[in-house]
Amino acid sequence: MSATERAIASTEAHSAHNYHPLPVVVATADGAWMTDVEGRRFLDMLAGYSALNFGHGNRRLIDAAKAQLERVTLTSRAFHHDRFADFCTQLAELCGMEMVLPMNTGAEAVETAVKTARKWGYQVKGVPPGQAKIVVAANNFHGRTTTIVSFSTDQEARADFGPYTPGFEIVPYGDLTALQAACSANTVAVLLEPIQGEAGVLVPPAGYLAGVRELTRERNVLFIADEIQSGLGRTGRTFACEHEGVVPDMYVLGKALGGGVVPVSAVVSSSEVLGVYRPGEHGSTFGGNPLACAVALEVVAMLRTGELQQRASELGDHLHHELGLLVGGGAVDAVSGRGLWAGVDIAPSHGTGREISEKLMDRGVLVKDTHGSTIRIAPPLVIGKEDLDWGLDRLREVLAGA
Ligand SMILES: *Cc1c(COP(=O)(O)O)cnc(C)c1O
Repeated sequence: MSATERAIASTEAHSAHNYHPLPVVVATADGAWMTDVEGRRFLDMLAGYSALNFGHGNRRLIDAAKAQLERVTLTSRAFHHDRFADFCTQLAELCGMEMVLPMNTGAEAVETAVKTARKWGYQVKGVPPGQAKIVVAANNFHGRTTTIVSFSTDQEARADFGPYTPGFEIVPYGDLTALQAACSANTVAVLLEPIQGEAGVLVPPAGYLAGVRELTRERNVLFIADEIQSGLGRTGRTFACEHEGVVPDMYVLGKALGGGVVPVSAVVSSSEVLGVYRPGEHGSTFGGNPLACAVALEVVAMLRTGELQQRASELGDHLHHELGLLVGGGAVDAVSGRGLWAGVDIAPSHGTGREISEKLMDRGVLVKDTHGSTIRIAPPLVIGKEDLDWGLDRLREVLAGA
């Protein structure tokens, strides 16, 4: 038995089968490259679903984490610590907002957004007790908690996890008329991904996000943008909403905020909205801990210069140009996405997304399939152009059946 086979056999015996990973066992990683237990090298074209926007082992992030490890790692929010104020101030400033509520995982931040919108609805908007409604989009992905799967349309994510949390209405993504019809007097928020990641990196029709902004402003409804995967540089801007010149009422952030080092998430909004909280009403033992703040501060510092966004934009144009050339050649039905983020729909005649992902793995490129026929490409934003081209060459080989 190889080291890979041994690791996979033990994993299957002793871990819940809630994932179906590609059969590669990573041991080390650096930049856009990972090395497995057999010493084989792989180009990471997934970047931990955008948690690794700054690459593996990013020097600045590792140094920030190491320095903080030697000082203080956890205080709980029972006490102040000396990285917290800077983290909140600088993250709010990056977002053009006023206040931050830190959590750990993306799902917790979405839960926080839901709770915040409801509380704002009752206390500020004046919605009758227990009546608050939040409008969401079909085919969304916002996480895995019981409340969040309550408004998922993915049967795999939902089935057998009921009873479900009420208070959500689902409308088709990209359909402003449906959204308008769904917004009633008791609607407190519209919660959307500005680009739907898990659904296949789907960009909504032009004008949609601007239309959502206008409608929510008119109706006194909060526009919550779940930028957990689309935000922090991935699309060539700090936030995907910027592509339509839209500023939501609330950003939900996660993944890249922790630099691929620690889980860090946050809700970022105005003082009118986040000002609804009083002590004891919401919290998290680890949320906003010193180690998380130290790493996230470095993430914010890297994003402040705009260099990585620029890089994602330029390399993204190149990626989409190259992928666009594959459409119509028989193997690829469509390509979607923005910046260094793409969904590639594989023609059924050329195999499933999983089969293509496995063939790419055999050639040293790691991607992940979604929804059967799509492969998702999202390399670290620090990837070299030659490496990106090398990965694209492997994709062309696999699609050509070579
Ligand atoms: C990944 C993701 C989440 C959930 O984040 P976790 O850290 O896995 O809980 C929520 N929303 C979007 C858009 C995501 O991509």
